[in-house]
Amino acid sequence: MMNRKRSVFLVGAISFFLTAILLHCVKNDETEETTGTKEVSVLTARYETDAVSADTDEDAADDPAIWINFTNPSKSLIVGTNKKAGLNLYNLKGEEVFFIPEGLVNNVDVRYGFDLNGKKVDFAGASNRTTNSFCLHVIDGENQELIPVHAREIISGVDEVYGFCLYHDKTEDTYYAFVNGKNGQIEQWSLFAGMNDKIDAELVRTLNVDSQPEGMVADDETGTLYVGEEGRGVWKFRANPDQGDEKVFIPMSSEDNPAIEYDVEGLALLYLPEGKGYLLVSSQGNNSYAVFERNGTNEYLTSFSIEDGEIDGAEETDGIDITHYGFNDDFPAGFFIVQDGFNFEGDQLSSQNFKLVDTREVAYLIDPQMTIYTRYVPYR
Ligand code: CA
Ligand code: CA
Ligand code: CA
Ligand code: CA
Repeated sequence: MMNRKRSVFLVGAISFFLTAILLHCVKNDETEETTGTKEVSVLTARYETDAVSADTDEDAADDPAIWINFTNPSKSLIVGTNKKAGLNLYNLKGEEVFFIPEGLVNNVDVRYGFDLNGKKVDFAGASNRTTNSFCLHVIDGENQELIPVHAREIISGVDEVYGFCLYHDKTEDTYYAFVNGKNGQIEQWSLFAGMNDKIDAELVRTLNVDSQPEGMVADDETGTLYVGEEGRGVWKFRANPDQGDEKVFIPMSSEDNPAIEYDVEGLALLYLPEGKGYLLVSSQGNNSYAVFERNGTNEYLTSFSIEDGEIDGAEETDGIDITHYGFNDDFPAGFFIVQDGFNFEGDQLSSQNFKLVDTREVAYLIDPQMTIYTRYVPYR
C-alpha cells in the first residue's frame, strides 16, 4: 500500500512538473497564441477515452473527430466510431457521454455552420457498412447528443464503404461528403437542406485510386482532398468537383520512406496561418505518425510515436484527428487523438479506445519554436 501510494505520488509529482513546463510555454489565452521552447522526443497520452463496447480481441474502435464547442470550449466533444455498433460521444476527459446504435460505422468527420433552412447546425457524418451508406447527425452540444439528420438512407455505389470525410467550400458555402470503398473509388456527394429540416445528398463525381483507400481529410482553406491508399501512400486531389480529377502523389508517403510502413491509415491537418501547417499520417505498420508540410509539395519532416506513460501508448492506429484550439487547462492548445489498436489497463488487454495527446507536444516535436495560434480556425 505504502509503495503504491508513494509511486502514485511520484507519478503525480512528475506529471505536475511536466505540466508546469508545458504551461510555462503558453501565453495568456487572450493573446490567442502559444509559443514553444521545448523539444519533446517521446510523446505520451494525457487522457484516454473509455473503451468501446466490444470484446477485447475485437477490432472495434476506428476513427475519432473533434467537435469544437465555440460558445463553451471546455464543453467540446469527440465523436468516435465503434465499427461493430455505432457512434460514441466523449468529453474532453475521454468519458463516454452518449452512444447511438447506428450500425457498422467506420470513419467519421465534423463540419460547422450548415444552413438547415435558416438554422445553422454543426454536424457529423460517418460511413456505414450496415447499409453501404453514410449517415449524418446534428451535434447537440447543449444536451451532448447526436441527432440523425440524413433525409434518407444515402446509399453509396462504391464496393463496401470504408473511408469518409467532409469538405466545406467556403467560397460557395457548399458542403460535400467524400466516401471511398475497397475497389479504389471515391465518391463526392454535395449536401443540401432537404425536406423536413433534414440533410440530403447528391452524387457529383467519382474519383479513383488503384487499390483500397481509407483515411481521407479535406483542407477547407486550400480546397485540397487528401486520400490515403493503404498499400501505396497519400494522394491529393482538388476538392471542388469543377477543378478536375487529376491526382498528385506525395512522394515520401510511400514505403520508399523508411519511416513509413503500410497500411497508411488516418489523415489529419494541423493548421497555421498563411497556408502553413502540417499533414499527419498514421503509419499503421510501425505504430507511428508521419508529419508532412501542409503547403507546397508536402515535404516529409519527421515521425513520432505515442509510448507508454501513465496511460498506455498507441499501436496499429486507424483514424486520427488533431486541433490546436484552446479548450481548457488540460488542453490550452488542443489535442491530437488517435485510435489505439491495443488498449491496456496495466498488464490487462482491454477493448480498444482513443488516446489524447497535448497538441503542443506534437507541435514542438516538429518545431521547438513553433507558435500555435489557438484561435485560428480556418475550417469553421
Ligand atoms: Ca484500414
Ligand atoms: Ca479503419
Ligand atoms: Ca495501447
Ligand atoms: Ca489504457
